[in-house]
Amino acid sequence: MFLRLTRRRFLVSAGSAAAVGAMGGCISTNKATGRSSFTGVYSVEDDIRLGRQEHPKMLAAFGGEYDSRLLKRYVERVGGQLATSTEYQQFPYQFTVLNSPIVNAFALPGGFVYISRGLIALAGNEAEMAGVLAHELGHVNARHTAERMSAGSLAQIGVLAGAIGAAALGLPGELAQAGQQVAAASIQSYSRKQEFEADMLGVRYMSKAGYDPEGMVTFLSTLREQSMVEARSMGLPAGTVDEFNMMSTHPRTVDRVQEATAAAQVQRPAQPILGRQEYLANIDGMLFGDDPSQGVVIGRRFVHPGMRFEFQVPVGFRVRNEPDQILAQGADRSAVVFDLGVARTSDMTQYLQSDWAGQIRLKDVQAISVNDMAGATGWTTIANGGRQFIVRLVAIRRDARSAYRLQFVASSDRYQALKDEFRATTYSVRSLSAAQAAEVRPLRLRVIRATGNEDVSALSGNLPYGAFNDDWFRVLNDLPQGRQPVANQPLKLIEA
Ligand SMILES: [Zn+2]
Repeated sequence: MFLRLTRRRFLVSAGSAAAVGAMGGCISTNKATGRSSFTGVYSVEDDIRLGRQEHPKMLAAFGGEYDSRLLKRYVERVGGQLATSTEYQQFPYQFTVLNSPIVNAFALPGGFVYISRGLIALAGNEAEMAGVLAHELGHVNARHTAERMSAGSLAQIGVLAGAIGAAALGLPGELAQAGQQVAAASIQSYSRKQEFEADMLGVRYMSKAGYDPEGMVTFLSTLREQSMVEARSMGLPAGTVDEFNMMSTHPRTVDRVQEATAAAQVQRPAQPILGRQEYLANIDGMLFGDDPSQGVVIGRRFVHPGMRFEFQVPVGFRVRNEPDQILAQGADRSAVVFDLGVARTSDMTQYLQSDWAGQIRLKDVQAISVNDMAGATGWTTIANGGRQFIVRLVAIRRDARSAYRLQFVASSDRYQALKDEFRATTYSVRSLSAAQAAEVRPLRLRVIRATGNEDVSALSGNLPYGAFNDDWFRVLNDLPQGRQPVANQPLKLIEA
C-alpha cells in the first residue's frame, strides 16, 4: 500500500486498444475535415460519453483545476467564442485551466479542452492562447481520438521505470480499461496529418472569431524557444522535449503551421484581435511553476513542504512529480522512483522483505541509517525487453506509520557507473523542520510596465531555473538575446 504524495493521480494505460479496434465499426464522413475516417465503433454520442467519463481522470492526472474564477471565465469566454464556429455543435464544449506547470494543452473527445497554467504563462496575448484552444477544437472536431482508438495503434503510455518497479515488486499492473485508453490517447502525440488538420480547422475557427491566425505561428516559435531552454537547462541535447510538453504531444513546425494556415484559405480579419492588454490583465497574479502543496522541484532537489521531506536526484536525471510517486529518469532507462509506504513496524529490514518485496527474494539485505533514520536495503534483478536490470530497494523509516521508499533501476551493464550517485540520493533523504518547509513559497506571475532602466538579470532573479533564469525570462517576455526592455513595455515578472 502506498500513501498519496499529492492529490493528483497518474494515468497508466495498458495495451488493450487493439481489442477495441478489432470490434469492428464503420467509416464515417467527418463534418469538419470532409474526409472519410475510420472512427470504428465510436459515434459522436460516444465521444461525448467518453469525454464526460474521462474528464475527472484528466483533471486528476494534471494537478486538478487551477483555482481562479477570473482566469476560468476568461479562458471560457475565449474558448466559447471559438467553439461557436465548430462543425459539431452538439458537443458540450468545456474549457479547463489545469493547475500544472507543464506547458501543454489537450482535448478529450466530445469537446473537453484543457490548457495548463504553464502554457498560459508562456503565451503573450489572447490571439496566441486562442490559437492553442482553436487547435484543440480542431482535434475534437476532426474526431482524432476516436480515429486513433479505432486504429488500435495506441502505444503504452506508462513510464517504463514504473513498469519495472511494479514488476520487481510483483504488484498488479493497472487494469486495462477502455476508459483509460481514451485519456491516454488524448495525451499522446498526434500524427503529422492530424496536426495539419487541427491547424487548418483551428485557423478557420480563429479567423471567424476575429483573431489573426498568425497567433498560432508566433506561439509555436515561443514554444520552440521554451523547449530549447528547457533542454539546455537539463543538460540535454537541443530538441529533446519532455513527453508531456506540447512540442511532443502536438509535433509541429512553423513551416507546417504556415502551410496549414495557407491551405485553410481563410480571410484574415480586417482588424484582427491581438488582445495583449486584456490577456496580461487576466494572467496577472497567476501561480507560476510548481504548486508547493504538491511538492516542488528545485534543480536536482525535490522538496515537499507539506509532507516535510526532501531528497536529491543524480546528476542528469529529470524529475517528474507524479500523484503517487516522484520519478527521476536518467539515460538508457535508468530511474529513481520515490514514494511513501504504509509501514507499521519499526523494523525496516522486516518491512523491506516481508511487506514491500513480498514474494521477491532480495539479495544482500542490510540495515542502514540515513540522517538518523533507520533504514534497510537489498537488491534483485529483473529481465525486461531482453535486457537484465538491477533494482535496488531502500526503505527508510519516516514515522510510526510510514516509510520513505526508493527504487533504483539501471541495466546490469550500467548500474556500476551509477552506484555512487544512487547512494548519494539515498543519503540525501531528510525530513524538514517547519522553518525549512516555510521557506518554500509559491511563485506568482506579476505584470509590470518597464521603466526602460531595467536589466534582464536583475528582473529574472526569482525564477527557479538558476543559471538559466535570464533565458527563461527572455522566453516568457519574448525578448530576444541582447535586447533590454524598453520603457512602458509590459513585462511578466516572477515574484516570490
Ligand atoms: Zn495537435
